[in-house]
Amino acid sequence: MRWHNASLFILNDMILDGKKVQEKRLEILKEQIDESGFSPRLATVIVGNDPASELYVRMKHRACEQVHIGSVGVSLPERAGTKEVIREVQVLNRDPDISGILVQLPLPSHIDTMQVIEAVLPEKDVDGFHPANLGRLFAGTPIFSPCTPQGIMTLLNEYQIETEGMHAVVMGRSIEVGRPMAALLLSANATVTITHSKTRDLPLITRQADLLVVAIGKPRYVGPSFVKEGAVVIDVGTNRIDGVLCGDVDFDRVKDHTSAITPVPGGVGPMTIASLMENTFLAAKRSLCTGVW
Ligand code: NAP
Repeated sequence: MRWHNASLFILNDMILDGKKVQEKRLEILKEQIDESGFSPRLATVIVGNDPASELYVRMKHRACEQVHIGSVGVSLPERAGTKEVIREVQVLNRDPDISGILVQLPLPSHIDTMQVIEAVLPEKDVDGFHPANLGRLFAGTPIFSPCTPQGIMTLLNEYQIETEGMHAVVMGRSIEVGRPMAALLLSANATVTITHSKTRDLPLITRQADLLVVAIGKPRYVGPSFVKEGAVVIDVGTNRIDGVLCGDVDFDRVKDHTSAITPVPGGVGPMTIASLMENTFLAAKRSLCTGVW
């Protein structure tokens, strides 16, 4: 054991076990749903037959079953256009039995992803990608935050990693991960730097990080030269090399330089799903309790 950030005990080489935390969170959520008397229901929309997307959607439906959230899947052919996808979303928007809608990304390149995201009613936008939800997040008054960064905050909380006062460096500026991650960390009183593909002297910046969140989609890109001794490293990347899943961080080479690190698989991925379930229950509660957005 040793002091970390002058306020916390952290185990050396701590592996942040997203799977274990997911199980705990889903168990608690199931009890809350059973006791609530609500019947939350998630609709997923998938376009085309990308095997990774199909796998993620199956995992989300399985998690729904586990926590007693109803689920329905809409599957559209690869050739479906933007209008067709939006029409399906609008049907789900109007369905009072649907609490939350998730459009599986990425959509095929001929579809206007932003138009589809904006077609989802903000109060059913359990992915938190609608500009209304992202705006609320950046204003510091979030309702639905994107599931991956929200899951990362939950993971840090569960391990009692206090982000207040930390210098957090986020690698990547996507709407799904990097930007909302920065907003959540800022709200949690970290000092945040966002980096991207045009950032100069990247390792110089990342080596200043007490907390390094890597979401760039580049297999094992981040080696020891990017990491300050004793930093907490969160690896969001999910890349496949010869069918094997790996992160954006070179885990084996980086692990010993950190005070805590997420593995891939078994780190951030399960937390994303846990957050989706929590957001869906929140959507159901909000629709029945307040009836207003
Ligand atoms: P994305 O939309 O492709 O964005 C990648 C970001 O990384 C961009 O902002 C890009 O910069 C930046 N970038 C690329 N190369 C870089 C470099 N060498 N140095 C610094 N920044 C660089 O990806 P994403 O949707 O955020 O996803 C990132 C990774 O996380 C992917 O592997 C994805 O599969 C994974 N992911 C995992 C989960 C999960 O639940 N585990 C969820 C979502 C995503 P520019 O903006 O300048 O292009």
